Formats: sequence, C-alpha cells, structure tokens
Amino acid sequence: MKKKTAIAIDGPGGAGKSTLARAIAEKLGYRYVDTGAMYRTIGLYVLRSGADPHSADEVVPLLKKIKIDIDYNAEGAQTMMLNGEDVTGLIRTAEISMYASAVSAIPEVRAFLLDTQRGMAKKHDVIMDGRDIGTVILPDAKVKIFLTAAAEVRAQRRWKELREKGSGQSFEEVLKEINERDAADSGRAVAPLKPAEDAVTLDTTGMDIDQALRAACEIIERKTKK
Ligand code: C5P
Repeated sequence: MKKKTAIAIDGPGGAGKSTLARAIAEKLGYRYVDTGAMYRTIGLYVLRSGADPHSADEVVPLLKKIKIDIDYNAEGAQTMMLNGEDVTGLIRTAEISMYASAVSAIPEVRAFLLDTQRGMAKKHDVIMDGRDIGTVILPDAKVKIFLTAAAEVRAQRRWKELREKGSGQSFEEVLKEINERDAADSGRAVAPLKPAEDAVTLDTTGMDIDQALRAACEIIERKTKK
C-alpha cells in the first residue's frame, strides 16, 4: 500500500481550522478528520452521565462504556457516532466545548483516542485538525500548519456563527470562553497546544476565508514539493 500523506492543522479554538481543513480536503481529495469532535463526543457522554469532567477518577471508568465511530455522509461530512447514536448535531454547544476541554486534559482520554486517530492516517490521505496533531499524533506529517488569530477576532467569528444558529450568547461571553479554553488547552501538562517545531504558523487575523485558504494552499504546495 502506498504511504499516505498527512496534513496536520493545529491551533486554538475559532482560528478557522475546520472551515479551512474541509475546503482543503475537498480540493485535494483527502479525508478531513476533526479530532475536536471526538473529544466533544466524550464530553457529551460525561455530561450525560453527570460525572465531573475535571476528575480523572470519575471520567476514566466511563471510557470502557464509550464506543466512538466516525462515519462520512454522502457529502463527505464527518458524522460522530456515540454508542450507535448520531450525536453530530449535539456537540457544538458552549457547554460541550468546556466539557471537551476538561476531559482532554486527562491522559487516559487522549490515549483512548490515539489509535483511532493514527489508524485513520494510515488508511487514508488525511487532513487532520486538533491541538496536538503535529506534535503528538502525527509527528511525521508532511505538512504542519499552526493556524491562529487574535482572540478578539476568533471570538467575533464564533459569535457570528452562534448568532446565525440562533444563540443569544453575548460577544463578551464568547470571548471569555475562548480565553478560558486557550488557557486550559495551552497550560495543561499533557499534549498542550503549541506549534510543532517544524510547523508553519499562519495568522489569519486580517484575512478572510479565501485569503486564508490561498495562504494555506501555498504552504501545502511548498511542503509537498520537497
Ligand atoms: O477543536 P474543538 O474546539 O472542537 O476542540 C474541542 C476541545 O477538544 C478543545 O478545546 C481541546 O481541549 C480538545 N482537543 C484536544 N486535542 C485535539 C482536539 C481537541 O485536546 N487534538
């Protein structure tokens, strides 16, 4: 079997990773893997079970009751299955973001997802986004992009997205959540959010999606030519 190509996109919440990764996947015919959705799915299970998401003692025993499957629908969009239930539409709330961030700091939770994530990159050409893809999951990825933007800009994008979905959250609340999640994701002991040494940082603060896409494609072209 021909060795597969992997593109890793890491960065903080709201940087535009999923929008960009989806567009690149479509353009290159790669499979898009959203690893945040896996942590969100575990977060949902923990929320439903009433456990404290910060407590390894409470969360770890739940892992053996969780089966996560990733399906792809006809349009190629990732569908998250939790013990056979399609939870794709349930994992995008602010509450689940905080649960995902809390459970993702538990080493056993990260170990639980590691094989699935690496397995996907073995079978398919992938563009995978998350926080530790270039540093831990796929250290040999051909292309590593660290996608970032100023916190205010990321909060603005998130807030607009949430408003379109009918959420009444204020901009200040969204910004506070973004800052809290940044601090938790970057400050944790295991697999903290940070650029891999060989990652190219792309700051999309002043860019719209088309400009960001063009810049990312230039990086990918440059890195895959070598
Ligand atoms: O990317 P998304 O916002 O959906 O991720 C939700 C949370 O899952 C993040 O705040 C982060 O704590 C965690 N995560 C992680 N490692 C990844 C992907 C997501 O720790 N590779």
